Amino acid sequence: MLYKKLIKNKGYEFTIQKRILLLEMINANTHLSVKQIYERIKDKNIGLATVYRSLKIFGELGIVKKINVDNINYYEIKIFSGKPLHVHFKCDKCNSIIDVDNLEQDLSYIKLNKKIEEKNDVEIYDVDIMLKGLCSKCKGG
Ligand SMILES: [Zn+2]
Ligand SMILES: [Zn+2]
Repeated sequence: MLYKKLIKNKGYEFTIQKRILLLEMINANTHLSVKQIYERIKDKNIGLATVYRSLKIFGELGIVKKINVDNINYYEIKIFSGKPLHVHFKCDKCNSIIDVDNLEQDLSYIKLNKKIEEKNDVEIYDVDIMLKGLCSKCKGG
């Protein structure tokens, strides 16, 4: 597992719980709140405190990305996910969070980031953009 090395390199133990948690998040391939993650793995003898603690470590190591929507934190796999740099869209009606990403858009962000970096003398390593509106399902009705 690619994540194992990252975790061990930083001096953390790669426990069976961390493994289960990561696999669940990879399989889900979406944004999950702590509660939603816990619901998915609680039958595997993993406590809520362990979920919190592990997510904090994953966050520190850059393995997961935290997205705050209406004061709820959602987590998604960040590295090795194939889409490290993407913008989020939140539907105000059904509350779903959608990844807005495709190659053409990604390239535009990179170009935009480069411009901002040059103009402001900063270094950008992450994006945190949340677009809000109505998703295609809600828009139609
Ligand atoms: Zn919607
Ligand atoms: Zn996302």
